[in-house]
Amino acid sequence: MEFQDFEFFKNQCLVGGQWLSNGQSVNVLNPASGEVLTQVPLFAEQETQQTITAAANALPGWRAQAANERAKYLKAWHQLLIKHSEQLAYLMSLEQGKPLAEALGEIKYAASYIEWFAEEARRVYGQTIPGHGRDKRIVVSHEPVGVCAAITPWNFPAAMITRKVAPALAAGCTIIVKPALETPLTALALAALAQQAGIPDGVFNVITGNAEPIGETLTASTVVRKLSFTGSTPVGAKLMAACAPTVKKISLELGGNAPFIVFEDADINLAVEELIKSKFRNAGQTCICANRIYVQQGIYQHFSKLLAARVAELNVGVGTEPSTDIGPLISESAVQKVEQQLADGVEKGGQVIIGGKRHALGGTWFEPTVLINACEDMLCAKQETFGPMAPLFSFENEEQVIAEANNTEFGLAAYLFSNNVNVITRVSEALEYGMVGINTGVISTAVAPFGGIKASGSGREGSHFGIDEYTELKYLCYHISDQ
Ligand code: NAP
Repeated sequence: MEFQDFEFFKNQCLVGGQWLSNGQSVNVLNPASGEVLTQVPLFAEQETQQTITAAANALPGWRAQAANERAKYLKAWHQLLIKHSEQLAYLMSLEQGKPLAEALGEIKYAASYIEWFAEEARRVYGQTIPGHGRDKRIVVSHEPVGVCAAITPWNFPAAMITRKVAPALAAGCTIIVKPALETPLTALALAALAQQAGIPDGVFNVITGNAEPIGETLTASTVVRKLSFTGSTPVGAKLMAACAPTVKKISLELGGNAPFIVFEDADINLAVEELIKSKFRNAGQTCICANRIYVQQGIYQHFSKLLAARVAELNVGVGTEPSTDIGPLISESAVQKVEQQLADGVEKGGQVIIGGKRHALGGTWFEPTVLINACEDMLCAKQETFGPMAPLFSFENEEQVIAEANNTEFGLAAYLFSNNVNVITRVSEALEYGMVGINTGVISTAVAPFGGIKASGSGREGSHFGIDEYTELKYLCYHISDQ
């Protein structure tokens, strides 16, 4: 079956329950072949305004529903994602390039947020607080923020959407999503399935198009009360400033530069396996990818050899082929960034022990690469790589590695490997990051609060904390008379 025949395939935008185009469109490409998959509409200011109106019109009806009614819609949507997971994964792999197994994993992960927040919808508990006088009673409730907007990236085309939309809908908000132009088809498929699940018109809208006018219209609007953004730090900072005049509530999930620290007493084989997952998943294009790998001196050589041997086994190819471990990078500029960091690393004394160049397949494939003798003044120590290159830094002691690991503007994820509970406790407490993986390279789950500090953003997604981002507290102060 061709992907165009999938029952959820859409190449128009969903606005107030209607599938719309505007006569202008942009190509959606397959990054593996450069082939045009389809076109999607290029919306701008006028269509964005129309969508804001649709989301505002849908708000009173949606927020008035009982929490268990909203939960029912979310559960139906969740089941449709699971039912169509194989086809959704195929579509995602086509437009994004990631291996099928990873795409399927992402669909299930994306669905898990919908299931989680369907359950959380019924647990948005308020409080009563002892009053400040005999005649006073205080009741606190969580109310939906209102109309929300979400701007999402291409690296996780499904999960970055459901972890915003599911809590928003659970809380009683309506939402407008603008996905990345590289991966709009997964977003539109999610919207088609939400519609099939019976989610009322205007509650969940998806618009594709020019980022700047859409972003400006959403942020300037006084009707939109919340912006949730996942993407790069410079764009996040710009949107944060644009939200200031209307004093919107905001959540920002931004870039990372994760340290991955391996102490001499660690289980080295485990650390190598977890590094492969953390570093090379999605060809290195995740915000929580290990970016700087710190290995203690005594095991540095042994670790490098084990890692290189394991990297040699990774199968580079087309994402939709089941045997592929590493797909193409999203764009030519993504490849150039890896090349630039690698050239800089080699110039400053680094040594490539495996990989190190564009892959023979051509296009935007890059060989999985290990660079040893990395040091602090290299670009790869300072910038997010977002590609399949693993630079190995050597360290002497705990104090040194903590200082180097924290020497970055970012604060999203960090990883540490040790079998000493004292080391684990001291180092994890000293790391200035929102999330720390201890003896594991896989930390994402719907049940935990995902997010960063410093230039990696603010706010959390997932867990019971995730729904707070879509509610405002209201407190009622009662005067109770004696009679
Ligand atoms: P990006 O360039 O910031 O784009 C992200 C989204 O913002 C896209 O939808 C993009 O639209 C839109 N956008 C760009 N400029 C805009 C503007 N001026 N106004 C409004 N919207 C604008 O980031 P990316 O390259 O797609 O994604 C990679 C980055 O995301 C990395 O830094 C990664 O670490 C970060 N990330 C963070 C997390 C997290 O949870 N912390 C998760 C995933 C990714 P167009 O596609 O149309 O340009």
